[in-house]
Amino acid sequence: MTQHAFLPRHKFDDLLAQLRQSGYRTLGPVLRDGAIVYTDIAAVEDLPAGVTVNAQPGAFRATPGDSPRLFAWANGPQALKPVVFKPVETLWQAQPGAGGELEFSAAVPIDEPVAVLGARACDLAALKLQDRHFLNGEYRDPCYMQRRRQLFLVAVNCTHPASTCFCASTGDGPGASRGYDLLLDELDDGFIVAAGSDRGAQIAAALCLQDATDAQRREADEAVQRAAAQQTRSIPPGDLHDPLLARRDHGRWLEVAERCLACGNCTQVCPTCFCNSEHDENFLDRDGSVHVRQWDSCFTAGHSYIHGMVIRSETRHRYRQWLTHKLGSWHRQYGRSGCVGCGRCIVWCPVGIDITEEVRAVLENIDDF
Ligand code: SF4
Ligand code: SF4
Repeated sequence: MTQHAFLPRHKFDDLLAQLRQSGYRTLGPVLRDGAIVYTDIAAVEDLPAGVTVNAQPGAFRATPGDSPRLFAWANGPQALKPVVFKPVETLWQAQPGAGGELEFSAAVPIDEPVAVLGARACDLAALKLQDRHFLNGEYRDPCYMQRRRQLFLVAVNCTHPASTCFCASTGDGPGASRGYDLLLDELDDGFIVAAGSDRGAQIAAALCLQDATDAQRREADEAVQRAAAQQTRSIPPGDLHDPLLARRDHGRWLEVAERCLACGNCTQVCPTCFCNSEHDENFLDRDGSVHVRQWDSCFTAGHSYIHGMVIRSETRHRYRQWLTHKLGSWHRQYGRSGCVGCGRCIVWCPVGIDITEEVRAVLENIDDF
């Protein structure tokens, strides 16, 4: 395939058909209950044509429109995280063996290969961080690994960021540079297609695409540049570990705690948060039990329960833990900040707490920023 090809709009269904023919279940953005979510799609009619998004702190509104564009929306609450790191899943089970002894067996998922259409640059960056957490250590998470290996990503460069987006300041968007199998730039009459992997090139080759023209590529590049220029929020650059920890007693932690409900919404929608808890569930109708993992949040009391006490007993401690870990300690653990600038924690916080505002308030008067 040529490096940049052109897929006419009326042939978009061919891409879906080719993915399914190659064995992938196809997930894509769908307007449901007023939000954009990733779910099964069968045809181009399932996609949110013409839908645009107005997102503000604590508010999200998706509005239908007449445009033929399928990807003119800004991200909804759901990232790629639940596709590979399930909100609830069984890790292993225990049952009595033939001789009465306990037998333990791993519950590795048998999910089919999945192709996700519409992933944004910020979510690709977040997935890379999750890969680092779940796959790069001494222990590799088998459930995550199996789903990740079978994941085919059709990314779409973002040209309609919300007012809450700040991926340009974290260096993660709005254009995608890696981490995809296919990358689309949407124009009025179709899509510029670029392959980012061998399997992506195979899918594109099967579509028999024509070359994209220089004018089409220029139009696509300019749209991404405009999307970056539209972003007004930002996060201070660099490793914030030391300046944040030096302000662990700053008065802003108490001030934000007076607004924060400790609901954990910000951590559930955050594409990089990976905290989880585990528990056992006994079968009621037979012997045995399953060991279950589920998403947890550093905003819950239980998440800091250690040796008989909750060590982050107040909301100010939990908000401080979240922000200083995300923007500070991640640099020590993963070599970069844990924030990719998607803005979801701002939009889906019921009281509109804004991480970009809070970090600047804590870092007030610091010379470096
Ligand atoms: S901290 Fe907020 S803006 Fe940053 S990646 Fe998480 S949800 Fe997105
Ligand atoms: S910052 Fe907002 S979303 Fe996060 S726990 Fe507090 S109230 Fe909930």
